[in-house]
Amino acid sequence: MTVEFQVQGVPVSELARRYGTPLFVYDGTALRDRFHGLRDRLHPAMEIFYSLKANPNISICALLHSFGARAEVSSLVELATALRAGVPPQQVIFLGPGKSRQELAACLDSGIHAVVCESIPEVALVDELARERGVKAPVALRVNPRFAVKRSGLAMGGKPRQFGIDEEELFATTDLVKRFPDVDLMGVHVYMGTRILHEAVIVENTTRILDLAERLSAALNLELRMVDVGGGLGVSYFDGESDLDAQVLTDGLNPVIEDFTARHPGTRLIMELGRYLTAEAGTYVMGVRYTKTSMGERFAVADGGTHHHMAAVGIGSFVKRNFPMAVLNRLDEPATEEWNVTGPLCTPGDTIGKKVPLPPVRPGDLIGVHRSGAYGPTASPGLFLSHGYPAEVLVHEGRCHLVRERDSPEDLLQRQRLYDPTAHDAADVPH
Ligand SMILES: *Cc1c(COP(=O)(O)O)cnc(C)c1O
Repeated sequence: MTVEFQVQGVPVSELARRYGTPLFVYDGTALRDRFHGLRDRLHPAMEIFYSLKANPNISICALLHSFGARAEVSSLVELATALRAGVPPQQVIFLGPGKSRQELAACLDSGIHAVVCESIPEVALVDELARERGVKAPVALRVNPRFAVKRSGLAMGGKPRQFGIDEEELFATTDLVKRFPDVDLMGVHVYMGTRILHEAVIVENTTRILDLAERLSAALNLELRMVDVGGGLGVSYFDGESDLDAQVLTDGLNPVIEDFTARHPGTRLIMELGRYLTAEAGTYVMGVRYTKTSMGERFAVADGGTHHHMAAVGIGSFVKRNFPMAVLNRLDEPATEEWNVTGPLCTPGDTIGKKVPLPPVRPGDLIGVHRSGAYGPTASPGLFLSHGYPAEVLVHEGRCHLVRERDSPEDLLQRQRLYDPTAHDAADVPH
């Protein structure tokens, strides 16, 4: 009997038959276990905010919220998503380097916990918007720290960046509280980088961020009602990497948190996590259309590709490294061959996996990319070749829920206009 990949007892072939391929499948139990694996060990004073950027699906957000996650958003639609998913405004923070006036106004009007400002001109704009509304705007300052994190996938601190305000500049700008009377400066935010797989690095970052927040609050005379220590917790994708151990991590973090809360009992502590919460729970399922060989290499040409899963291309590394992959409908067959797994796009870049060890692949097989619940469609060029975005299905408590419909040809065409050579817009220059 062949062994098939299942999500809570639902065979992948059944999911493919019902919803078609390519398809993202999310396992609600995996999401819950991931969240609680950290939540149940982490010091209770540290709140976990879900960074919608990693996977902005409203049902994923709602499910994580039902477990206890709050929301960290970075656009108008992410804000609306979190609120519609049922996250109370006081459990939402908004950050991002280029917020629009409309986005900032929506932050104030919806009453979120904090706007994380990334420049002094942005604080000035928030001050103006607050004055117009007759409210005080809760603002946390994002700091670009002097120190950098080592051993992270993508470092943020210690470099010229568009994110945050340089630590030096903040320490030299001690009149901020006075200068912006309609802003309630109430916190500090630091995000050191992403894809960190070393527990000690996260503990060290957190220690330094809490220390920086204390020093800043003293220097600027700002009340510390919130400190967001970022996060950047990674998940392993490639050979030679290993996952963070939540027990080791929290054994390191909890005394640091305890020490800080003893001195600042009223301060809300926030850790914001995207990838760590969702990556493991998602599988990208592709159907194989054709198999062929070219110059001695095997190719499985699938119906899905990098337009849904840019992360799997492995941008940023010189050598292409493969995400964990499998032939999902024949999990028990040994991987005796090497296959290039490619998609329908007309570019050699549309290679999901290079020389992946797999069993002999046949048309109709379902190839899965595991650990695909973060930075899939949201970070991919879904409009390339006008394919559009795939369906997404959440399996929770044994039930399947379609949580995003596949884009149809009409969805993709309806926002375009066929120009009429006899008509012109009023703004046209007459000739
Ligand atoms: C992208 C980002 C996150 C989420 O990052 P993950 O690596 O997915 O956890 C959190 N905070 C900030 C400021 C970010 O830019």
